[in-house]
Amino acid sequence: MNLYIGDRMDIKNLSKQELAELIEDNANGLDPHIGSLALREKEKYYQNRIFARGLIEFTNICKNNCYYCGIRGENKNIHRYRLNKEQILSCCKVGSELGFSTFVLQGGEDLYFTDEKMCDIIYSIKSHYPDCAITLSIGEKTKKTYQAYKNAGADRYLLRHETANEKHYGMLHPHDMSLENRKRCLYDLMEIGFETGAGFMVGSPYQTYENLAEDLLFLKELKPHMVGIGPFLPHHDTPFKDFKNGSFELTITMLALTRLMLGDVLLPATTALATLKPDIGRTKAFLVGANVVMPNLTLSEYRDDYLLYDNKLSSGNEAAQSIKNLEKEIMKSGNILDMSRGNNVRLKNL
Ligand code: SAM
Repeated sequence: MNLYIGDRMDIKNLSKQELAELIEDNANGLDPHIGSLALREKEKYYQNRIFARGLIEFTNICKNNCYYCGIRGENKNIHRYRLNKEQILSCCKVGSELGFSTFVLQGGEDLYFTDEKMCDIIYSIKSHYPDCAITLSIGEKTKKTYQAYKNAGADRYLLRHETANEKHYGMLHPHDMSLENRKRCLYDLMEIGFETGAGFMVGSPYQTYENLAEDLLFLKELKPHMVGIGPFLPHHDTPFKDFKNGSFELTITMLALTRLMLGDVLLPATTALATLKPDIGRTKAFLVGANVVMPNLTLSEYRDDYLLYDNKLSSGNEAAQSIKNLEKEIMKSGNILDMSRGNNVRLKNL
């Protein structure tokens, strides 16, 4: 396949079939030339900076039943928890003292957190830490609710699309969830003015190379500010318990191709990738254009209860408290840790 125009890769003009072939060709190991093009693309926008976000997993209560997810509502074998406002603020305090200026509030779709309660939490965090960025990752809501979060002070929203293929979406989720609604949410978020994150798992059950090509084409159309990509990892109490891990190599390939497709995107080296390869996962991701880390700030007594998949890391360099060690790991990879808000460069106020 003739993929190169001079030294630049022409990924943006490839058809679904060509993308699928490219992905398949690099499934067992990324062509180093493509890896270095992806790294160069990242450096064009963000130099050698890696941005840190403090992750607060504030509730593992969820009304949904995604077949892959360990905190799905029907899993009766986990200890459920939710943090109250004071506990969330205490996580932010620890984070702020450690130097974090972005807080990511992630959770299941927990109906306890009404718009009023969520807005109060967002407003309170912003009152205590006016210069921080607040990222929410709490699932599918109406446009009105997203707007209320924005008005209360939220800056960013992460909602992985999971897969851009409708049939595949239906194999990963029960009938009460739809790709159509997931996409509607993402377009609403973009329209409201959130820095918006989409994303997908690599190696989720029944996924094909064509599906991954469709993910890239959807991202090209949506133009999100952030994209979360991690390997699927099975959880022992889900319908997908007997499926195998997504591939590390293919995840690295998808990170590189997403960087080349979207240029200025913020791309985390995800916890799932670090869980799959704790020694080299993050570093390999940085080498192909990942530029975000999201260490865990959740109160330690609850960290093990937010188990999306088996063996999920929340200690070592995934713990916010180990930020100095993480900084060393980042420096070893030739990068620097940046604790500023780290907006997407499209917002021009880094
Ligand atoms: N409820 C919110 C939502 O739906 O966006 C946020 C929480 S949800 C648990 C966060 C992400 O975890 C999902 O978008 C999914 O991609 C990822 N995830 C869940 N189960 C996983 C698994 N078994 N392996 C890898 N990633 C998983």
